[in-house]
Amino acid sequence: MKGSRFMKKYKGKCLCGYINFVLSGDPSDPHLCYCHMCQSWSGAPVVGWVNFPVSSLKYESGEPALYRSSRRVQRGFCPRCGSALFALNDGSKNICMVISALSDKEDIVPEFESFKESSPSWLKISVKALR
Ligand SMILES: [Zn+2]
Ligand SMILES: [Zn+2]
Repeated sequence: MKGSRFMKKYKGKCLCGYINFVLSGDPSDPHLCYCHMCQSWSGAPVVGWVNFPVSSLKYESGEPALYRSSRRVQRGFCPRCGSALFALNDGSKNICMVISALSDKEDIVPEFESFKESSPSWLKISVKALR
């Protein structure tokens, strides 16, 4: 990520408001993923992701439900409204947050794309950092 935003806090929440969280670490590797698992999980053709130190995630309310989507990956979502929130690799120091779950996301700009070949042909995404 460009610039320095030392200990900036990022708040986030699910659609129904049951889950509220705060991230206080530095975001890294913001990207878009078009893989079939992200598509099925989110219901969207593409999901924006950004990493934070897992230790920096604190819940102010609620508790996510977990679904093990791969042998070593769990995905977190709101058990009440189903909002997609994060993916967590077993043993990883980083948690991969859904950018759209963050309230203040203007300065988190995707820098690369994963599984572009799974993108629907009609989807054209223009992102400053990806041009
Ligand atoms: Zn919810
Ligand atoms: Zn994916």
